Amino acid sequence: MVKVVILGQGYVASIFAVGLERIKRGELGYYGVPLANELPVKIEDIEIVGSYDVDKTKIGEPLYEVVRRYDKGEIPESLKGITIRKGVHLRSLRNLPIEATGLDDEMSLSDAVEKLVGEWKELGAEVFINVCTTEAFVPFESKEELIKAIEEDNKERLTATQVYVYAAAKYAKEAGGAAFVNAIPTLIANDPAFVELAKESNLVLFGDDGATGATPLTADILSHLAQRNRYVKDVAQFNIGGNNDFLALTDKERNKSKEFTKSSIVKDLLGYDAPHYIKPTGFLEPLGDKKFIAMHIEYVSFNGAVDELMIDGRINDSPALAGLLVDLARLGKIAIEKKEFGTVYPVNAFYMKNPGPKEMQNIPRIIAYEKMRMWAGLKPRWF
Ligand code: NAD
Repeated sequence: MVKVVILGQGYVASIFAVGLERIKRGELGYYGVPLANELPVKIEDIEIVGSYDVDKTKIGEPLYEVVRRYDKGEIPESLKGITIRKGVHLRSLRNLPIEATGLDDEMSLSDAVEKLVGEWKELGAEVFINVCTTEAFVPFESKEELIKAIEEDNKERLTATQVYVYAAAKYAKEAGGAAFVNAIPTLIANDPAFVELAKESNLVLFGDDGATGATPLTADILSHLAQRNRYVKDVAQFNIGGNNDFLALTDKERNKSKEFTKSSIVKDLLGYDAPHYIKPTGFLEPLGDKKFIAMHIEYVSFNGAVDELMIDGRINDSPALAGLLVDLARLGKIAIEKKEFGTVYPVNAFYMKNPGPKEMQNIPRIIAYEKMRMWAGLKPRWF
């Protein structure tokens, strides 16, 4: 069994919940889940035991009803038994057309942390999956600064994700182990303050920012060109989408947080920094969850010939990440069993846009995939 707690019951988390239950009912195959059912921990073993949000219209509602807002198909009855609980918001829905409420409106951060830890004990939580709205944040770098901000109830300095990880560390210390999957851009696995805290608290950290959409594809194409010693002159890549995540990114401060995602990806993979523009670019409501991506790469081939690659796509945003989460929940459980506390680079390098820890680089994902399989005890696929 893998007992999962969701933080942020939006589009991604709802598709995750529906897809998981449909797999359990034998209605779906494993497409979109990289490791399918190869791991010793089976997909059918994953159980969502709790879910948190800060949207007033979701708190207190059955998960079944919230999920219905995102998936128009038949929703599995098994989602009726879970009620959305109140999290901490710390301005995470600021400037969005959503009314927020959180434990932080009623109590100090230390008390909110105690309350969450108490609830997680009751639920027997093992893996936390963070898919809250993209936040504007400042990393901590020092564990002492982080602890001080919590103790001083510094609600301006902390984001919700930072408080959730702090609470998960406290919980993991008492429970003997837990895992936190940070699928959003806030630096956690790349912030030494959290990695140090996790190591001494029996907490596994995966992060940061799930690698879906155009970025991993760009990374694979850059590796392909690097292996053939073609010289990349420039890279342009953009995304336009119509879901709430893209709406949130129209807020300047939050968009900056996506840019934190190692824009060194180009340098890491090519060995030099080709001029590039790689950013989420805009919100266009009618596109819904099926975003438009485009990529243009110019490079020099033999005898100075200049080639151009142009790729366009319409990609369903939420299912792409939800499928990765099905693996990450199970890998979280495996990492707890292996006692690999702190952050786990072989997992991050494949699944995350910004793989922690901070000092580690992006590597070609075709290599990261094999290394991740070996870490998980599976046979390499092509080596
Ligand atoms: P969404 O807006 O549909 O869902 C986010 C949910 O989080 C909402 O229900 C919101 O009310 C809730 N929330 C906000 N602050 C919270 C808090 N402090 N505590 C608890 N709940 C909170 O967005 P989404 O499309 O589901 O994306 C979720 C996250 O995943 C985003 O941060 C995004 O950057 C990240 N992400 C998505 C993809 C992808 O969709 N392919 C890829 C990488 C990363």
